[in-house]
Amino acid sequence: MRRLIFSDLDGTFLDHHTYDERPALSTLLVALQQGIPCIWNTSKTLPEVLEFRQQLCEKLMLAGGEPSLIQASLKTPFIIENGAAIYLPDGGLIQDTSLPRVQGYRIKTFAPSRNQVLEVLSSVRAGYHYRGFADMTLEDLIAATGLAPHRAHMAATRGYTEPVLWQDAPEALHRFTHTLNQLGLRCVLGGRFLHISGYHDKGKALRWLTLHYEALAPDTPIETIALGDGRNDIPMLEQADIAVAIPSASGSRLNLQTPGRVIRPEQPGPRGWAEAMQHLLETRHE
Ligand SMILES: [Mg+2]
Repeated sequence: MRRLIFSDLDGTFLDHHTYDERPALSTLLVALQQGIPCIWNTSKTLPEVLEFRQQLCEKLMLAGGEPSLIQASLKTPFIIENGAAIYLPDGGLIQDTSLPRVQGYRIKTFAPSRNQVLEVLSSVRAGYHYRGFADMTLEDLIAATGLAPHRAHMAATRGYTEPVLWQDAPEALHRFTHTLNQLGLRCVLGGRFLHISGYHDKGKALRWLTLHYEALAPDTPIETIALGDGRNDIPMLEQADIAVAIPSASGSRLNLQTPGRVIRPEQPGPRGWAEAMQHLLETRHE
């Protein structure tokens, strides 16, 4: 039996308020020492994930991790923008030469590009009031998100999805959503923004990668473990053999329809991540 971990970041591996991951670091190290890859499956953008991975490596080193093990973990694939694209680092286990190669990665996409999304948006824009990231200056974006300048810049460097601030009536939003749906785009209301994208999700990306890991050793079964706290994690959790539903900061409970096993840790964020994973890593099946 081989195991794969697929994990959300914000509110799951990272604390919802402080973005701190320290409570989960030593448990992540144990997983890596057991040879279990941890695949980040997040709504973050490419620059955000690259920075997170680099900083995580430094923290794992400081926590006493074996440098070669930690360097090797940088060759693990990762998934950005809610399942829009999988990045396969050069030199990693999972390779697919049929995919385009850009700056050290093969990239599997599940979505139209952000430019295509923006083109569709501009074709239906007349008569609606909203402002998207593409309409905002960096200063506007900082004001709208509360992010520090370099973080706002990374959040704006998007490949596949467009968040917009809706400034029109709810009925107009209903019509707008219907029109975009007919043009092949989806609108998902988040905490602050309306997210416009193609029909991708974290679950499809999990399946694609799991099939590629299976192809490496077809005779060895794979057990997938997914961890997430938000509604956008439900497709990933429902595709996994073991779903770890981390309690959300708001206290709402994810409703999962899955034949797999569901674990619900007591604690939110990285404490819940560690709680569930410690238990799973102690009960390793060979
Ligand atoms: Mg989350």
